[in-house]
Amino acid sequence: MLSSPQVWKEFFETYYRDELNRLADAVEFGGEKSLHVDFLKDLSIYREGMLGEELLSFPDRVLSHARDGLALTENIHDVSLEGCEVRFFNLPASRRVLIRDLRSEHIAKFLAIEGIVRKVTEVRPRVVTAAFACSKCGKVVYVQQEDENVLKQPYECPACKNRRFIFIPEESTTVDSQRIRIQEYPENLRGGEQPQQIDVMLEGDLTGKVNPGDRVIINGIVRAKPRKAGAKQLQHMDLHIEGNSIEVLEQEYEEFEITEEDKKKILELAEDERIYDKIVASIAPSIYGHEDIKLAIALQLFGGVPKKLPDGTEIRGDIHVLLVGDPGVAKSQILRYVHRIAPRSVYTTGKGTTTAGLTATATRDEFDGRWTLEAGALVLADKGIALVDEIDKMRSEDRSALHEAMEQQTVSVAKAGINAVLRARCALLGAANPKYGRFDRYTPIAEQIDLSPTLLSRFDLIFVLTDDPDEVRDRKLAEHILRTHEIGEKFEKLRNIASAEYTREELDRESEIAEIVPAIEPELLRKYIAYAKRTVFPVLSEEAKERIMDFYLSLRSRAKENSAVPVTARQLEALIRLAEASARLRLSDVIEREDVERVIDIIRHSLEQIAVDPETGEIDIDYAFTGTSKSQRDRIFVLKRIIEELEASYEKGAPEEEILRAAEEEGIEPSKARELLRKMKEVGDIYSPRDGYYRLAVK
Ligand SMILES: [Zn+2]
Repeated sequence: MLSSPQVWKEFFETYYRDELNRLADAVEFGGEKSLHVDFLKDLSIYREGMLGEELLSFPDRVLSHARDGLALTENIHDVSLEGCEVRFFNLPASRRVLIRDLRSEHIAKFLAIEGIVRKVTEVRPRVVTAAFACSKCGKVVYVQQEDENVLKQPYECPACKNRRFIFIPEESTTVDSQRIRIQEYPENLRGGEQPQQIDVMLEGDLTGKVNPGDRVIINGIVRAKPRKAGAKQLQHMDLHIEGNSIEVLEQEYEEFEITEEDKKKILELAEDERIYDKIVASIAPSIYGHEDIKLAIALQLFGGVPKKLPDGTEIRGDIHVLLVGDPGVAKSQILRYVHRIAPRSVYTTGKGTTTAGLTATATRDEFDGRWTLEAGALVLADKGIALVDEIDKMRSEDRSALHEAMEQQTVSVAKAGINAVLRARCALLGAANPKYGRFDRYTPIAEQIDLSPTLLSRFDLIFVLTDDPDEVRDRKLAEHILRTHEIGEKFEKLRNIASAEYTREELDRESEIAEIVPAIEPELLRKYIAYAKRTVFPVLSEEAKERIMDFYLSLRSRAKENSAVPVTARQLEALIRLAEASARLRLSDVIEREDVERVIDIIRHSLEQIAVDPETGEIDIDYAFTGTSKSQRDRIFVLKRIIEELEASYEKGAPEEEILRAAEEEGIEPSKARELLRKMKEVGDIYSPRDGYYRLAVK
């Protein structure tokens, strides 16, 4: 073996002279006591890479040589570097192993794993060398501890053979320790695979560095421990990693390699004048129709531009979309397809598949009792998109956390030993079912799904997918499904029977005509989106600004005095975000008028589905989210005035008959007035001192 403390001393003094001086400085004045060695850049070229190879194959011996070698080095401060750690990063790609591919051959080897941090425990001291005092003669005995949960005691006192001891914490040496759990990237899982996970033990200056949701490369040694059944050790082993160094991945989508060839294809696509149609046709092509929803999702995938204003305010660029629809329609299918084409996404249901649910949670660990912080779907989807089916079924903890997650894009957890603010910079695509089975166009949306008005108003776009019978549409849909099946059958025949009467090429062409193959391959589309998000940051043009202003003011002008405005600043921000996404989609650095027109169309479409007051036919956001329209509010105002006037002349309160008569004179039908009286009583605006009489609750 080449490795020895002397060889390492030579390596450090050749390549890391400045760092040795800095390290000596840290030892003397405080700071991180680790030397970080770039494996690929320095170690892999030193002595034909032999030292590096030895580290990978025999890490325990070689790491100990490296530490001893570090202690032998000299520095300008003339400080001993004994006890300092040597940490290695930037391992060759060939040493990067997927969690699911870890096998026996990797045990006790040095390698790198990559993934997303799912859980972290609090940082606590761990005893490295325990001091015990003999309970009889007082002799102090030191016991080297292993990486076990249980504190190891001396067998007997070397002086008096007594077997009872008292632990002395202040005489023991400890190190900060933390356990974290790494999970495979959610977007790399296909077809409902469960993500594989592995625990990583961290010590010293590696602790407290990462948060749930961080994407990391862990470099370290694979360890195996027999599983336990009670006190017995089993033959089967559990693997974990003893961490040597952590690389936190900062850049968005850096796991995506976009080659020159890809780039050429992407730029070509962006030039295509049918690019919007093509991308829309590439989202869930087997689902017929719903082009408006598909365009909204396309814009969501590209996203607006996140901004940090000079005063520190952050404005989200992520676009939130909600699909509401009758059970049985294509909502879930759309969500699953988006999971396939989004560069980074997490798919889950409102009920959640883990204890952390949609956001994050702090729990006590069943293994060692430490408080553990676990990330939920929205944190794991940081810098990506969270796909939440049946979002209306989420737990109450998630409901309150979701406001913060959707607007500030953070999730705060404050419980016992855990106090953390996690990042959740993701777009949310949710699907919800109506409470009463089918969606009713004539009832406000807030009354039909189990989500609060404030939560609903955080979605930039809401769409309703109904199963309304419509003969022309039904015929087209049926034709599309029949055609899809027919082509599928022909493919099967071709696969199984050699003498089929058509060729593969003919079938491919047929699929294309029938629009059941995506216009853009999912793999290329993912790269296209990643490329756009990474490189395109469009800016509003004058024309675009003017058009946005016009539209916004025209919507607001419909509101009269004493009523809530139909469109709030929140919708204005949504409008800008969507226009940014529209420009990004064609890789344009400028937001043009055409982008704004496209977005106005979508917003109109969305509002027409959820926010039209059935009585006036006008768009009214308040009606959608609170169930009270402007026209209704006007009438309530009139009724209150009538009751107030009548109350003055009737001792027992305003008689219903009189109210209805006066209301009719002012153009409110008796049935409507009766209905409103019931509603007003329900919310406590008025009360009945006796049957058929009313009084104002607050004047
Ligand atoms: Zn003793």
